[in-house]
Amino acid sequence: MAQVRLERLRKSFGDNVVVDDLDLTIADQEFLTLVGPSGCGKSTTLRMICGLEKLGSGEVYFDSEPVGYLPANKRDVSMVFQSYALYPHKTVEQNIGFALQMMRVPKSEIGERVRKTAASLGIENLLGRKPRELSGGQRQRVALGRAIVRDAGAYLLDEPLSNLDAQLRGDMRVELKRLHADLARTFIYVTHDQVEAMTMSDRIAVMQGGVLQQCAPPEEIYGKPANMFVAQFMGSPP
Ligand code: ADP
Ligand code: MG
Repeated sequence: MAQVRLERLRKSFGDNVVVDDLDLTIADQEFLTLVGPSGCGKSTTLRMICGLEKLGSGEVYFDSEPVGYLPANKRDVSMVFQSYALYPHKTVEQNIGFALQMMRVPKSEIGERVRKTAASLGIENLLGRKPRELSGGQRQRVALGRAIVRDAGAYLLDEPLSNLDAQLRGDMRVELKRLHADLARTFIYVTHDQVEAMTMSDRIAVMQGGVLQQCAPPEEIYGKPANMFVAQFMGSPP
């Protein structure tokens, strides 16, 4: 179980304030989408949650426990990146199992968990292949598999579908929703795509220039945008 709470989260690079006093609570098992234009601070926020970026100030809590001081590998999260970042010389099976190997999970158990994960993503027939022998969509599934093979309280997904064509993106949206239901875990999803946000989320958090503009369910974001920016960005009727 993992509720994720961000408290006055802040980050600057030099004079550039990239995340500005962000307060946000993501409920256990919620599908929350962070949305906003390129450069608004979405990835930096995710990286602070998972521990890949040091907090400027503020705090991140998992189930009321502060985790800001913990290194990434001690946090109960798993992250999927925008670039697939698969190991080119490893097979699909080895790519998916790599994190478990690092965690010293017994070999027999790794095989079992990798097969189960691959089956849930419909790629069990690809386990022996290398990344270069896969299509974009298949690679994306492997990248997802690498993240979900680990049991984590929260899964963080940074624009995982942005490199796919429109048709595949549509299919993968549906799959991700099914995965979220099956895993029954907290998902924090980042996208700059309004349609993705509207169709997938329990709640949408709209950011601009490092500042949270509104956080609400899709119908409220669309029907009662908090300001002009949200209305324009989400394409609400005037
Ligand atoms: P988004 O994911 O919403 O596109 P990012 O969080 O990646 O935005 O970046 C927000 C801003 O922070 C951008 O202006 C980006 O150039 C800047 N930024 C991100 N990472 C660094 C870094 N390591 N050093 C300096 N500036 C950075
Ligand atoms: Mg980004």
